[in-house]
Amino acid sequence: MTTSETTHVMIAELERMFDAFPDLPREAIIKQDILRVGLAFDENALAVASGYKPKDYFIFSFDLVPLKEMQHHEAYRSPEEIRMTGGVYQLQPTIVSVRVNPDSPYRVQLHEGRLALLCEGVHLADLEFPPIPAYYAHSLSSGKKISEIAPAIEWGYLIYLTAYRLCQYWGKSEECRFCDLNENYRQQKAQGREYTAVKTIDDIVEAMALINQHDTVSKAYTVTGGSITSSLQGMKEGEWYARYAEAIESRFPGRWIPKAVVQALPKDEAQMLRDAGYRIYHPNYEVWSPELFPWICPGKERYVGRDEWIKRIVDAAEIFGPERVIPNFVGGVEMAQPHGFTDIERAIASTTEGLDYFMSRGIIPRFTTWCPEPTSDLGRQDGPPLEYFVKLLLAWRTTFEHYNLPAPPGYGRPGVGNAEFSVSAFMDVIRLDRLPKGREVAEV
Ligand code: SF4
Repeated sequence: MTTSETTHVMIAELERMFDAFPDLPREAIIKQDILRVGLAFDENALAVASGYKPKDYFIFSFDLVPLKEMQHHEAYRSPEEIRMTGGVYQLQPTIVSVRVNPDSPYRVQLHEGRLALLCEGVHLADLEFPPIPAYYAHSLSSGKKISEIAPAIEWGYLIYLTAYRLCQYWGKSEECRFCDLNENYRQQKAQGREYTAVKTIDDIVEAMALINQHDTVSKAYTVTGGSITSSLQGMKEGEWYARYAEAIESRFPGRWIPKAVVQALPKDEAQMLRDAGYRIYHPNYEVWSPELFPWICPGKERYVGRDEWIKRIVDAAEIFGPERVIPNFVGGVEMAQPHGFTDIERAIASTTEGLDYFMSRGIIPRFTTWCPEPTSDLGRQDGPPLEYFVKLLLAWRTTFEHYNLPAPPGYGRPGVGNAEFSVSAFMDVIRLDRLPKGREVAEV
C-alpha cells in the first residue's frame, strides 16, 4: 500500500526516502526517523500493556523533554524499546529505543484493540514491548534494585553497567555539549528515583551472579560512565574501570562479551583494560570535523586534544585488534546549531572522511542517533532532517562494504529483521550476503 497521495507530511517524507533509497531497508529509515523525533504514548496504551520492561534510564536521559514535563508519568511507564512488525509497509521485526516526546507524530496507541504505532493516522506497525528479564525478580543484599545496578537493554542482549553516573568534565566549558549525564543524574535524584553515582564492585558482581543464574538472553555487558580526568578513589580512569571486568571475568570467564566505553586512553591504560578482560573497546570520538570537535567536546579538546584522541584510537587497535576497537560518533551532532553544518552534503562528506580514516585501518566506528536532550548544553533544537540520517546510513554501509569488513562483534545479529542494537539503524542496514565469507562477524 502507498500513502503518497495523502498530504501527510511525515509519511510523505518517509515515502520520498523509500523511493530515493530503494537499496536501504524501509525498516531502517523508519527507525531513524523515530529515533530522531521520539515517541508519544497514549495513556490507554500504557494502561493496557503489562508485564513489560520499562525504561531504566541506563545512562543519559535519551528523552526530548525533561522528566518534570512528562504527562502521564511516561518516565516511569514507557518501555525501554519497542519492536515493530507488519503495518502498511509489512515491516520485518525492528527494535527501536524509546525517546519520550509527548508531541511526536509517532504515537503508540491502541489500534483495533492491539498495541500499535501510528503516524498521522497511518498504521505503521504492530508493537511489542520488551519482556521483563527473569533476573529482575531478584534483589541485591545491599537493598539496591537490580534493574538500577545492572539493567538490560537491546531486548535483553546487553547488560548496561554505568559504573560512574557522573562525569568529571563539569559545566559548560568542559562537558560535551550533547551530553546530559550530569544533568540527568540531578533530575533523576530530584524526582526521587534511586540512582547510584558510583556502583560498587560487590553490587555488580552479585548482580552478574544472579543474571548468570536466571538469564539466558544476555550475551554482552558494557562497563561505562563519565570520564575521570584526574582520579577517582585514587585511581586513573583505565585502572578504575578495569576493576569491574577483572572482578566479573574472574568469576564468570567468557560468560559474556565484555565491552568498555571510556575515553581514548594512553596505551598503558588501554592495556590495563585489555588485561582485565575487556575484549571490545569504545573510545568514542563523537564528531569527526576538526573545526567542530573543540566546540562539541571542549573538555576532551582541553585535556587530550583531537589529534591525540584519534592517535589513541588507532594505537588501541594494536592492543585489542582493529575490529574490536569500535569508536562511537553521535550521528547528526555535526549539524547542531549555531556552529554546525547547515548543508546535509557537507555534513555527510565530513563524517564520511572519518569513517574512511578508521575503516581503512580495520577499525569499525558505529553511531548512535543524536537526541537533542533539553538539559544538555545544545538544548532543545530540531536536529537534522530524516534525509541526513538516511544518507548517513548509506555512507556508513558503503564505506563498510568498500573495506570488506565483518560485522562488529558484541552487537548481536546484523541485518534487517535481526538487529537488536536499538539507538541507530547501522546494524539493520548490514547486508548479510556482502559480509566476508567465513568471517561474517569479527571474532571476539
Ligand atoms: S565525556 Fe562527554 S559524553 Fe562522556 S560523560 Fe563526559 S561529558 Fe558526557
